[in-house]
Parts: sequence; structure tokens; C-alpha cells
Amino acid sequence: MSEMNINDAVMTTRLDAVVNWARKNSLWPMPFGTACCAIEFMSVMASKYDMSRFGAEAMRFSPRQSDMMMVLGTVTNKMAPVIRTIYAQMAEPKWVLSVGVCASSGGMYRTYATLQGIDRVVPVDVYVPGCPPRPESMLYGVMKLQEKIEKESLSMRKDHIGRFYESLARQDAWQAEKGLTGQQTIREMLMDAAGRGEGAIF
Ligand code: SF4
Repeated sequence: MSEMNINDAVMTTRLDAVVNWARKNSLWPMPFGTACCAIEFMSVMASKYDMSRFGAEAMRFSPRQSDMMMVLGTVTNKMAPVIRTIYAQMAEPKWVLSVGVCASSGGMYRTYATLQGIDRVVPVDVYVPGCPPRPESMLYGVMKLQEKIEKESLSMRKDHIGRFYESLARQDAWQAEKGLTGQQTIREMLMDAAGRGEGAIF
């Protein structure tokens, strides 16, 4: 019987590398589509562009079965508490793609009713520019997210999400204490953050 070379039978690596490899190739999108960008997104999932080439075709409309939220369209202030709840309900670890200028900055809607960027209320990992972004841009955004996941450490993710949950607990406490709606509470939290020179509430 020939002797087995140990180098042929054993491979060593880091736990982070293996886990991140699995994570980046099995993203489950949660489409948060509110406007025209969501229509553009439909072609990303269809046969020509075919997002399943990136392992991300298992689209779910339940946040509990998704780990990549894709915000596709204009988000109003009224929707801000909803987007936070959905993000909180998603499976961990989770990531957010802000698709199009409306989601990223309010776009052309510089109005009192529109949230001027979803990164004020949820942590965004990748921004996809454009109005609407072409399907290739959305796929490039997913590839950029995969690159980011590859470089993450497992503990870094925990810190990242911890800050969001703290802000959610603060939101609940303020809402109960002051008798406000979710939208009013987030507006107060944004004003409070602005007073400290910060743009986000987490
Ligand atoms: S970025 Fe342009 S295409 Fe996308 S939701 Fe806004 S207006 Fe519509």
C-alpha cells in the first residue's frame, strides 16, 4: 500500500475564509421595492441577466428567510420605521444594498416627505448609483458586496449589528415614553443625531 502524502489529504485555512466563502455565494435577497427601480430589478432576476449566476436567486418576501435587503426605490419618512422593522427581522448576518439615487439620497425628491437616504436609519453596505441603475450595475453591486463579505471577520459583523439593535431599543423606549408614532420617533431621533453632528440614528 502506497503511503499517503499528508499534503494531498489535508487543507488548512481560516474559519473566517470558509464561512465567508459560503456566505457570499448563498445570498438570499429580500426585495424592498417601492418604485421604478424595482421594475428594473425584475430584469436582473430574469433569464438575460440571471442573478442566480451569483448564487443569489432564492428571492424571499419574508425577512426571516433573507439576508440581503435590496432597497429599490424612493423611501418616505413614513416607511422609515417599516424598513427598520424588516431589517431587524432578517436572518443574521445580513447586508443591505441601496439601489438607485432615491434610496441612497432621496434623489430628486428633496421634500419633507422623503427620507434623504436610507443610511440614516439602517446600515448600508453597498450603494448602487443611477436612476434607474442598469441591471449590470445592480449585479456589480452584488459582486462588490461579495468582495466585502470575503474580507469581513465574524466578530466585526456582531459589533456592526449591535449598534443597530441598541438604536432600535432606544426607538421603542422613546416611542413608549413620549406617546409618538414610529415616524415621529424616528424624526426626533434624526434631529437628536443632527444636534450631535451625526447623520444616522444608529
Ligand atoms: S432612482 Fe430613479 S428609477 Fe429608481 S426609484 Fe428613483 S426615480 Fe425611480
